[in-house]
Amino acid sequence: MTKSASTSHLLPVFARADLAFTSGEGVWLTAINGERYLDFTSGVAVNSLGHCHPHLVAALQEQATKLWHMSNLFKSPDGERLAARLCEESFSDYVFFANSGAEAMECAIKMARHYHFSKGQPERTRIITFEGAFHGRTLGTLAATGAAKYLEGYGKPLEGFDQMPFGDIEAVKKAVGPNTAAILIEPLQGEGGVRAPSHAFVRALRELCDESGILLIFDEVQTGMGRTGSLFAHQRFGVTPDIMSLAKALGGGFPIGACLATAEAAAGMAPGSHGSTFGGNPLAVAAANAVMDVMLKPGFFDHVNRMSLLFKQKLASAVDSFPSVISEVRGEGLLIGLKAVVPSGDLVAALRDAKLLTVGAGENVVRFLPPLIVNEAEIEEAIQRLETACVALSPSAAQQQGAAS
Ligand SMILES: *Cc1c(COP(=O)(O)O)cnc(C)c1O
Repeated sequence: MTKSASTSHLLPVFARADLAFTSGEGVWLTAINGERYLDFTSGVAVNSLGHCHPHLVAALQEQATKLWHMSNLFKSPDGERLAARLCEESFSDYVFFANSGAEAMECAIKMARHYHFSKGQPERTRIITFEGAFHGRTLGTLAATGAAKYLEGYGKPLEGFDQMPFGDIEAVKKAVGPNTAAILIEPLQGEGGVRAPSHAFVRALRELCDESGILLIFDEVQTGMGRTGSLFAHQRFGVTPDIMSLAKALGGGFPIGACLATAEAAAGMAPGSHGSTFGGNPLAVAAANAVMDVMLKPGFFDHVNRMSLLFKQKLASAVDSFPSVISEVRGEGLLIGLKAVVPSGDLVAALRDAKLLTVGAGENVVRFLPPLIVNEAEIEEAIQRLETACVALSPSAAQQQGAAS
């Protein structure tokens, strides 16, 4: 085949905006042309402490002069410390470090299957999942995601996932059978459109898992590490899982994922049963320990919750002012969705024109994922930019434009 004449050599799997950035500071990004943008994407819930947080920069710089990579064939004191801190703050006894959300989820899926295998029930391999879910893009996590648009053309999906309507406890009860290993759910669906399950539903899932001897897995890749106003989103339900995946915000922008588990759920994992070359490498662990330093300071989550309340109130007023453009505010903490009346892609584009960066999601929702360190003035600024975008998208504005042209 001949070489393409395309000017970009990046595999064209992303519909990229015609915009590139050279630097960032806090919630602000500077584009190549020098223009400043308010970043309410946080790299899709990754840069939760903003860009170039001084404590993270210092931690990574210091580590970069000492040791970049060590194989997991050797001990990892800083990895031990990070794992101990995650366990101290959660239900878990063990942590496996990976490099991404999908990898953390792969570990969760494998661990659930191996749990039953080690208990003499190797037939228990199936995992109950939910419509609207997103668990990643590897062949395994894609099968768990179950979305036809992502699976098409990649052959027969990995066997073993039973997708149920989100929130339908009767359907889930019927679906649990002798081959069921676990139930997997996001405590708040991000990609699916910022959809929250009821607390009663999640509690019922926990009870069902206990009665049936199966495991409950929470995918907190997007919701974990403070995004919803507590370190982990499930802490708001009063329900703990047996296994949990983390990634996005864990390294504050440095790639790292983690799979956390109780000692019981991890019972089937022994030397050789799973692995990773890069997982938990010293640079990633240094970044994540620095993230923990900041998030565990007293008052951190109070700030997130105050900013959440303020932002949601202001968004609700914007919905009242522009009912022909936006219709509903959803979400927890600073994982906020704004349901659009106009196509959500048009709203994301209009916001970008107003120099406010946001992310689309399912159900025609626009996601606002500001860094958790966002302040009142920055939220006020974002609301003004949202109003500018809504004015531009209002039918009256379109009419005026039509009359002028
Ligand atoms: C982003 C995401 C993933 C996948 O993470 P990657 O790092 O892109 O592999 C999995 N689950 C949820 C809930 C996510 O939001």
